[in-house]
Amino acid sequence: MTEPSLHSVLRTRLHAVEERLAAACRRAGRSRAEITLVAVTKTASVEAAAIMLEQGAIDLGENRPQELWRKAAVLPATVRWHMIGHLQRNKIERTLPLVCLIHSVDSPRLLEALEQESTRQELQTPLAVLLEVNASREASKHGFAPTDLPDLVPRLAALKHVQVKGLMTMAAPDEDPEYCRPTFAEVRLLRDRLGREVGPPHSLEHLSMGMSGDFEVAIEEGATIVRVGSALFGI
Ligand SMILES: *Cc1c(COP(=O)(O)O)cnc(C)c1O
Repeated sequence: MTEPSLHSVLRTRLHAVEERLAAACRRAGRSRAEITLVAVTKTASVEAAAIMLEQGAIDLGENRPQELWRKAAVLPATVRWHMIGHLQRNKIERTLPLVCLIHSVDSPRLLEALEQESTRQELQTPLAVLLEVNASREASKHGFAPTDLPDLVPRLAALKHVQVKGLMTMAAPDEDPEYCRPTFAEVRLLRDRLGREVGPPHSLEHLSMGMSGDFEVAIEEGATIVRVGSALFGI
């Protein structure tokens, strides 16, 4: 594909996603400004990611740390990088300085390791994270079981450099996005409940949920961040 046509394909896809976002916001009585679109670049070339960025999609997400490092090294520093996949503890050191939000904190050990490393690196701003919830209860998925969340409250109170900003979930894939609605609604309730139990500096304003196939339903159920890959970049 020559560059101008890749350019126009991606522009058309972004426009289509924006139309879907706008329609979902209208149905939910919400404003588009409440929702952050994270363009998931895991299947995209650096060139394609750069074009999205040029079109104004400045929040980019990767699910593998090495791929995030590789793209971050060559794309402009204006990108707001989101780490959305499992983060091994030996990858924390290089990842922390690059990201604006880690969506995928999935264990108490990872939370402790992030606290230690952000203390050691003396980051300018607190490290913002989301707790990943395995609400669809699939054994293959990372994340806290909904019933594990209350036990985290004392641990969260002890954190000094890591700030929990909300919850993230991946719904079980299904042809019919309506099937995901109960999962999204449950995660919203879990967020509301946990948010009442933890005090500042944590503030659980974010719900990262919804992907290419189901983001409209997620928005109707309160998502503040949607993570969209294939609808933007193809597969
Ligand atoms: C790949 C990925 C997405 C995007 O999925 P699409 O269905 O391609 O939009 C969202 N979240 C996570 C954690 C992912 O790994």
